[in-house]
Amino acid sequence: MIPPRYWLIVPAAGIGQRMQAECPKQYLRIEGRFILDLTLSRTLDAAAFAGCMVALNAGDQWWPESEASRDKRIQTCRGGAERADSVLAALRALGDNAAPDDWVLVHDAARPCLHQDDLNRLIATVGEHKVGGLLAAPLTETVKRSDGATPPAVAETVDRRALWRAQTPQMFRYSVLASALERALEEGHPVTDESSAVEFSGNIPLLVEGRPDNIKVTVPADLALAGFILSQF
Ligand code: C5P
Repeated sequence: MIPPRYWLIVPAAGIGQRMQAECPKQYLRIEGRFILDLTLSRTLDAAAFAGCMVALNAGDQWWPESEASRDKRIQTCRGGAERADSVLAALRALGDNAAPDDWVLVHDAARPCLHQDDLNRLIATVGEHKVGGLLAAPLTETVKRSDGATPPAVAETVDRRALWRAQTPQMFRYSVLASALERALEEGHPVTDESSAVEFSGNIPLLVEGRPDNIKVTVPADLALAGFILSQF
């Protein structure tokens, strides 16, 4: 039997409105390099991938300027309206090259600080699992539920011991992820990450503890923080 291979999918078709920037956040620069270039080069250099598919927005005008556009390991496809559509488009673009049992690692374009140790631990821990798993970090702060009023007040303190923050990469068997995303999209189930679609399909992903500094650049202050984290590696 041929051992399963590992594919990297990076959904990069978002427009990143929360950054209030002139370009999508994956094209903001840290030390002169696009966040997307940092994310792709660091991830591809950290493990042996059979290939990489990046989903881009139809209106993307920055990609040709990227280092990644000249990287022979990387292919691109057109993303969709939501993140789940972009990931599904990338899975379809991999097409027949990927076998049903191959592993697909989906990693946010805006997470440039992935540490090699985290990637290796994810791959090793998921091992030969039937479904897959994701990097996640246990919550460290006390968690409050809001009452939803304006201004909000505390409704209750939530027991945080079983709560984790989902990160990426999220790693699933090709066929498990493709059918889970198809079903969730068909049934209108909200998909905020790949795992939520896989859970909705009745499968149980593993939680693999990741470093808390695998941050997603979301608001302007995250840019300096990501630069600092990268300078410490
Ligand atoms: O906006 P948010 O940070 O949740 O986006 C997470 C990732 O999903 C980003 O890498 C973004 O580019 C990607 N995305 C996408 N297609 C969309 C929306 C988001 O590829 N339609």
